[in-house]
Amino acid sequence: MTESDAEMTSLRKAGEAFRWQGVEHRPYKDADSAPFKAISRQTLFSDPRLLGELRYFEIAPGGFSTLERHEHMHAVMVLSGRGHCLVGSEIHALQPHDLVTIEPWTWHQFRAGEAPLGFLCLVNAMRDRPQLPNEEDIAALRSNASVAAFLDGRAGSAEEG
Ligand code: MN
Repeated sequence: MTESDAEMTSLRKAGEAFRWQGVEHRPYKDADSAPFKAISRQTLFSDPRLLGELRYFEIAPGGFSTLERHEHMHAVMVLSGRGHCLVGSEIHALQPHDLVTIEPWTWHQFRAGEAPLGFLCLVNAMRDRPQLPNEEDIAALRSNASVAAFLDGRAGSAEEG
């Protein structure tokens, strides 16, 4: 389906397992542009007449999104699975339908648990490029023991279930 077809289509049917008609299933980012693991991206809504874009991301078990910050915000709704996110210095356990707000210039990362973590993410259509942490930023983040555990993929190891 071309872009002009998509613009004329008011309904794109859901398929199996969080895939949609006419929506391209892509790698999260260009390989080597930033550290990440086992994550895919589908842009569900993107139109020059909208101020926002809605994307669906899915992180496989053991995978994670890039640790980054930027001026634009994220509004996230978890759709499936379990996992954790880092927002600033806070770690949150995630389950379906949880809502996560990521304020401007806040370090953030999502990590899947034992099941794939699927979530919607609303962003501005026009947005700045993410900034990656330098060694000093990493050291500052790691000075918090629970953040260090999260970054090492050990978030929730002390939690029940
Ligand atoms: Mn981001």
